[in-house]
Amino acid sequence: MSESEAAIPIAPGVVLARCPKPQSHTGMVTMVAIDAGAGGVLLVDSGMSDYMPAALSPALTLLGRGVRDVTAVCSTHGHRDHTGGIPAIREVSGARSYFSPHDIDLAGFAPDVPVSGGDRISRGDVTLDVVETPGHTAGSVCFYEPIRRLLIVGDSVQGTGSARKLPVYYGSGRQYRASIRSLLELPVDLMVVGHPLEWQGGHTSVFRGADCQGILTASLRASEVIAAATEAVLRASLTTDLAASRSAILGRLAAAPTFAQFDPGEPVEEDTDATLLSELGDLTGSEKP
Ligand SMILES: [Zn+2]
Repeated sequence: MSESEAAIPIAPGVVLARCPKPQSHTGMVTMVAIDAGAGGVLLVDSGMSDYMPAALSPALTLLGRGVRDVTAVCSTHGHRDHTGGIPAIREVSGARSYFSPHDIDLAGFAPDVPVSGGDRISRGDVTLDVVETPGHTAGSVCFYEPIRRLLIVGDSVQGTGSARKLPVYYGSGRQYRASIRSLLELPVDLMVVGHPLEWQGGHTSVFRGADCQGILTASLRASEVIAAATEAVLRASLTTDLAASRSAILGRLAAAPTFAQFDPGEPVEEDTDATLLSELGDLTGSEKP
């Protein structure tokens, strides 16, 4: 199995689809297509508008299906790489869209069905449980399929970043960590993330068995280290100004074993500031845009 293929079967009736995201660090966003028999196909995350629905076709072909068979598009959050393809898919298939009302501003449109924690989305013999996991965005959710113990997390699990990038969250670090702690309570055998994460020397979007707990725990730990570094610099410098404290925080992180691969030299991807602002906001109680 190659992580660069456009479509990868990951379980009976479940195929991972790939949509290009050229300007990003990983260059792609994942979608998950689940065959629900007479209920059609449930899709989790929609890909980018420019590439949809074409980018979905290889995955649907592996299921013996077409775009017309998609009956539900369930987005893990409102970012455009997870909701942008909804209109193009809906135009072909009439599928209903599901995501949190807290992320409507990010998506630029409202879902057909707003979802919140505890909701269930059913098609045929497949049911997805909605698990609220705010942090990356206010409206981030995960979808859990109990029969396969399949957990689809979108961007709610960020791993430990990369050479030029920290784990990215725009909402609240505290919420991001609380959300991961709640995911660690679930029995999970198969987990899919929204973008390939660096893990054990490679890049992967699909985690199995003990690696599910492994990446969740590593993601939680990485965020705890970021929070501790931010708080330490804030206490020492007595400033809440990101421009004044940024290089000190990044320097501390580069020295931490968790971020051994992180190199805070320029250019650090701009999303890094979003994460630091989330932590600063938690510490100062300030509102973020
Ligand atoms: Zn996102």
